[in-house]
Amino acid sequence: MYDLIIIGGGPAGLTAAAYALRTRLNFLLIGEDLGGYVNSGFSLRGAPGPEFLSGREIVDNLKAQIEYIDFTRRLDRAERVEPIAGGFEVHTLDDRHFQGRTLIIATGASPQPLNVPGEHRLRGRGLSYSTVSHAPFLWNRPAALVGHSERVVRAAAELAHYAHTVYLILTAPTPLDSPLGRNLLAADHVHLLEGYRVREIAGHDFVEGLLVRSPAGMDYELAVDGVFIEEGLTPRSELVAGLVERDTQGAIIVNSSCATSTPGIFAAGDVTNVFGEQVLIAIGEGAKAGLAAREYLLEQEWPTRHQ
Ligand SMILES: Cc1cc2nc3c(=O)[nH]c(=O)nc-3n(C[C@H](O)[C@H](O)[C@H](O)COP(=O)(O)OP(=O)(O)OC[C@H]3O[C@@H](n4cnc5c(N)ncnc54)[C@H](O)[C@@H]3O)c2cc1C
Repeated sequence: MYDLIIIGGGPAGLTAAAYALRTRLNFLLIGEDLGGYVNSGFSLRGAPGPEFLSGREIVDNLKAQIEYIDFTRRLDRAERVEPIAGGFEVHTLDDRHFQGRTLIIATGASPQPLNVPGEHRLRGRGLSYSTVSHAPFLWNRPAALVGHSERVVRAAAELAHYAHTVYLILTAPTPLDSPLGRNLLAADHVHLLEGYRVREIAGHDFVEGLLVRSPAGMDYELAVDGVFIEEGLTPRSELVAGLVERDTQGAIIVNSSCATSTPGIFAAGDVTNVFGEQVLIAIGEGAKAGLAAREYLLEQEWPTRHQ
């Protein structure tokens, strides 16, 4: 039985693994890939754009470490987790199963797509699902934002700080009577397109426009360099749905030590209810989860001591 099994090889899982390595835990990382969303890039037509605090270098270093010590990782998908005496059993897609005394769930979250033509092709090429990460690329350029709920209001405020024109298309009723919403409505360069529907994201190699239909049935093309989709994130937490408490969005609820409601199961990164979906935050949370799992093990029967 492993001391620790980490599920997910993104920034949070890789950092937890680095802590497990440093503290010489007998651990296994199960991930479909190594790097998670850090493997996806973003650029605009005619400009590579700025890279702010991406954390990519840190993640690349952590990845290299885990790639080198290959017995600590398994490229596979965890399909099921079951409680067993003294720990947990993880079943994988390859029909293998592994037992661990503790678990760290670091499976991230998936952005909800809009499902319109052009979306898949232009992803990362002017089309983004993370306004907080990529809005600075739109400095003094035109952009559109599509989504709903408080999330899109916060994203629009962020984008309006950089872009010279923001077209805001709400896909579901969204209250704008908050301080942020009122500031948006008062800004001359923010255009609220109420009741409009997105038909297509246009562009050859990069985003060049957004095709929309008005409530009266008229079609328009908005000339924009960037399109942001903020329809929400779905935490990939189904694996432990019956085992730990989750919030109404499906995010795993953790305390300040990344502990879940079940002793021995920790969680870190975008799959949790912790504020902010950013690489550097996931790295910090992964480090906390790694330390917390270690402390938990020290409180139990002592971990295997390797020479
Ligand atoms: C398109 C996009 C661009 C972004 N750009 C930036 C940016 O420029 N800067 C920034 O700071 N943040 C950015 N973010 C946010 C940032 O990438 C995330 O906050 C960060 O990657 C979260 O790390 P994580 O380890 O929690 O999850 P993830 O990076 O999502 O990694 C989770 C990993 O777990 C794996 N996994 C999931 N389920 C299973 C399973 N059942 N079994 C095994 N493995 C599994 C996944 O394959 C993935 O590798 C971006 C997000 C998106 C969606």
